[in-house]
Amino acid sequence: MVLGLNTVGRKLLWSVALPGLLVALLGAGYFWRGARLAATDATHDEALVLAEFIGATFRMPAPQGTVPHAPVEQLLRADTRLLRAATELHVLAPDGRIHWSLRPEEEGTRHPEAERLTAPHTQQVQSDARQTEVVRPLGGPECMSCHQGEVAGILHLRMVEPEVHRELTDVLGSALGTVLVLGALLVLLTALSLHFFLTRPLRRLTAAMRRAEEGDLLVRAEEQGTDEMARLASAFNAMLARLTAMKVEEIDTHRDLQVTKWKLSLKEELEERIAELALLFDVARSLNSTIELPELLSRITQLVPERLHIPDFSIMLVNADGMLEVKSNWPPEEPLEGMTFRIGEGACGRAAETQRAVYLPDVTQPSCIFARRGLPEGHDSGSLLAVPMVHLDTVLGVLNFRRPEVASFAAEELELLTAVADQAATAVKNAMLHTEAVKLTMTDPLTGVPNRRHLFARLELEVARAQRFGTPLSILMVDIDHFKKLNDSAGHRAGDEALRKVCDVLRTRVRKVDTLARYGGEEFLLVLPQVSKADACEVTEKLRRAVVESPQLKAPTQPGGCITVSIGVATIPCDATTQDTLVDCADAALYASKRGGRNRVTAYEPGMELHPGRERGLGRSSEAPPPPSVAKA
Ligand code: GH3
Ligand code: MG
Ligand code: MG
Repeated sequence: MVLGLNTVGRKLLWSVALPGLLVALLGAGYFWRGARLAATDATHDEALVLAEFIGATFRMPAPQGTVPHAPVEQLLRADTRLLRAATELHVLAPDGRIHWSLRPEEEGTRHPEAERLTAPHTQQVQSDARQTEVVRPLGGPECMSCHQGEVAGILHLRMVEPEVHRELTDVLGSALGTVLVLGALLVLLTALSLHFFLTRPLRRLTAAMRRAEEGDLLVRAEEQGTDEMARLASAFNAMLARLTAMKVEEIDTHRDLQVTKWKLSLKEELEERIAELALLFDVARSLNSTIELPELLSRITQLVPERLHIPDFSIMLVNADGMLEVKSNWPPEEPLEGMTFRIGEGACGRAAETQRAVYLPDVTQPSCIFARRGLPEGHDSGSLLAVPMVHLDTVLGVLNFRRPEVASFAAEELELLTAVADQAATAVKNAMLHTEAVKLTMTDPLTGVPNRRHLFARLELEVARAQRFGTPLSILMVDIDHFKKLNDSAGHRAGDEALRKVCDVLRTRVRKVDTLARYGGEEFLLVLPQVSKADACEVTEKLRRAVVESPQLKAPTQPGGCITVSIGVATIPCDATTQDTLVDCADAALYASKRGGRNRVTAYEPGMELHPGRERGLGRSSEAPPPPSVAKA
């Protein structure tokens, strides 16, 4: 709104110029009104005086021989100055007829307002702004001599305001108009000067301040002249310049701060990476420091809580049935070992199936019901991470990490644990290969039982144990009778089959602590720890009979229609005290069985002859080289 009070200029205008104008107007109006009243009063008084004068003049005695009231008429007609202001002057007869008038042509006619003017009354005066009307009865005792009635006539006088009065009031009216125009001009000029000298500079200064407030510190206020506004603008500009300098400093500081923060975060990230790499290196070193699978598994199980700070962990390997089987876990007192999961079952099964890590931030969520399936009590809450151990696209097993807190694995940790699982997969694969290689070097490929190498290593151990603890140790040397004949008649393939079956019969009938090994060709050696000679003979006889009676070992080509074995028995400490002599003794006993007619058991007795095809002391058959571990110097 143009006349609103939203600028200082307008406020000043309303508070100074307009009241001034109003006061001037009121003053002029007051004077004009006073002049007006004074003029009206003067006209009124003049009219009354004139009427009185004329009325009084009528009473003057007319000289003899003259027309009555002739002096009045002469006076009135002669002195035009007297009646200059009178527009109408009538002398009316009581019946309203005009007796005398300033305009002689009206004389003798009836006055248009005769009734009002001739109504019985005394003097009547009516004044308005411009004129005064006086109606005055003429007559009195002096007039009775000529005029018979009480009223001799009526004087009617209408007098306009004298010219001077009118001019005066007109002048005052003009003065009032002039004051109004001048006042308006004054207001306009005041408004303009306020606008140009106050409002506009203030508005510009305000605009500059607003822009500065919005952040534009390069804006500057206009400095024109040397007045207060200019000084204010100058002070504002100086303040802005200072602020700009401070802002620049702040920006520099902020930028430095940002750079420092960035460097710090980079440093922290680097430190984290280095720590992760160090951890991975430690894990790799630790895992690669052993090649034995059980030791490796227990090492991984210890590493996880120690170095990765994960309190709940288990390692699973894919077993022979293709199931995930818990091989080791932490804490060790939890009975998880041996638990199995199908591929695809639970979080671990799913990780193995998809060959991708499965992370469940909150196992208790309804969507994780698959993950809880099969989990023991106390393991079905918190967050769970199952990472598969994959080697060349083959899943070897799964590492299961669990924390009791919900969503406790960060994204970086998932990466780290995946890397740990990769390391573990390599180590586990190496250990598996090693186990396989060891198994291959220690196992006879035809029968699957330990070979001579394993046998002698085991025998050495058992002999040492028997010597240390003073316990008996018996060995049985088993030889298939007429095996050459079987080969010759039924073929080598049938011979191989017979070898496997004999081996099976023997294996299924000995204890777990006993060792059955292929000694050479068609010969087997059984090591029976803590078995006396008598017990050994008893066991041996059972084994011999089991072979003879086995329906699997019926062979028409053999004497008696079945495969038979001859067995020699020797025992520590009664027959020998060293490994070599023990084997020699068993060999001699076997030879005795052969000589005795085969399909029999013979316990060693002193003086028995050694098999002619053997070298004494080595217990070695001519078909195979001696193992390095038992070679004699
Ligand atoms: P004896 O009753 O005196 O022990 O007579 P034998 O025929 O069993 O004994 P001999 O030492 O004369 O023959 C052993 C045969 O066993 C010789 C060899 O061809 C055979 N043989 C050795 N190893 C194997 C093998 O791995 N497979 C087969 N099929 N035959 C083998
Ligand atoms: Mg033989
Ligand atoms: Mg034989």
